[in-house]
Amino acid sequence: MPDVTSITAVHPAVCDSPRRKHGRCIKQSRRVVIQIAAEAGEKDANASSGLDNPTGVTEMTTYKGKCFCGAVEIEVNGTAEAMGYCHCSSCRSWSAAPVTAFTLWKPQNVRVTKGAEQIGKFMKTEASHRQFCKRCGGHLMTDHPPFGLVDVYAATIPTLKFTPGVHVNYSETVLPMRDGLPKLKDFPAELGGSGVAVPE
Ligand SMILES: [Zn+2]
Ligand SMILES: [Zn+2]
Repeated sequence: MPDVTSITAVHPAVCDSPRRKHGRCIKQSRRVVIQIAAEAGEKDANASSGLDNPTGVTEMTTYKGKCFCGAVEIEVNGTAEAMGYCHCSSCRSWSAAPVTAFTLWKPQNVRVTKGAEQIGKFMKTEASHRQFCKRCGGHLMTDHPPFGLVDVYAATIPTLKFTPGVHVNYSETVLPMRDGLPKLKDFPAELGGSGVAVPE
């Protein structure tokens, strides 16, 4: 499970940062994503060492999901890189919900198993390729090519146990959530944010 820094650090990939801060966010996010990838590599190396896993077979859990009407089906494999909540206005506007719940995956762990031709895409910025079902309008996921991660909305894959680690952009919240998790005003300092934690 990534630590809180990792979780919050990758989050700007999920949002459309203000233009002024965008370049800085991309640069910093990339560094953290590389760090996460390195940690994952470490895990893989341990798994294949044979010490903990004598068979050498890595079990991958699959979680199935679908759009609102069911025309598009997807599945994710393995373990999410991070999970959490975002309270920013971009997430709110696109989702038409007060808060979004994100789960971030490596692209190779996300697969469209049915209805790929029904998937529509919208890109307000190059950082976020938002994907939805053209038939029902239901949101599926958002690809973040610069960061090498895909945000599959938690609501899209209900079979996955959602285990959030942090709330970001909490200063923009319209729905305070007093769940005891860390609340950041915007983003962590290492990402060009203030790094300031705010009360629930
Ligand atoms: Zn649909
Ligand atoms: Zn957001």
